[in-house]
Amino acid sequence: MITHSNQSNMNDLLINPNGVIEQASLKLSPNRDSWPDQTTINLVVIHGISLPAGIFGGEAITQLFLNQLDCSADSEFSPLDGLRVSSHLLIDRYGQLTQFVPFTERAWHAGRSTWQGQPNCNDFALGIELEGADRVAYTPCQYNRLIAVLIELMATNPAITEQRIVGHSQIAPGRKTDPGPAFNWPALQRRLRAEKATLQAT
Ligand SMILES: [Zn+2]
Repeated sequence: MITHSNQSNMNDLLINPNGVIEQASLKLSPNRDSWPDQTTINLVVIHGISLPAGIFGGEAITQLFLNQLDCSADSEFSPLDGLRVSSHLLIDRYGQLTQFVPFTERAWHAGRSTWQGQPNCNDFALGIELEGADRVAYTPCQYNRLIAVLIELMATNPAITEQRIVGHSQIAPGRKTDPGPAFNWPALQRRLRAEKATLQAT
């Protein structure tokens, strides 16, 4: 008998029937629409984002996804003017969750993208943003939260396997670099496998 690890409170997340994580702060983005008919959600795209790059803790990411960012506030923001983007979730440096788009709807995070020959990843992928930068280590709180979220998403979307959790850079190579070399993919895969094995044993 294996006792369940509560090292990161893996089981404390609940996705309600509306596709919203109960523990997340909900800030609905206007940048969302319906999934295409008969879509199977079978991919998770991990992103890294900070605005300005490398500066953490502000409101700019939330403002961007709500179309409320003052693009004159920082020179780095001007290319974002008029951009209409979102993600399903943001995990901040402390592991706090903000949900912008319910999982029952399509978010606009991937842009021009392809995974294993299938274009337009927004049509079948959930998007999770980690507050971060390509070359700054993501925090243990973020990994713990991310793993808890992924376990729930894999349970509710069986077509999302460990092999179908990818970085933005992998679906848009040459165009996107996030979540960057700072993201520890081997550790993520190792912990996901361990967590699943634990869940199966209980
Ligand atoms: Zn991205």
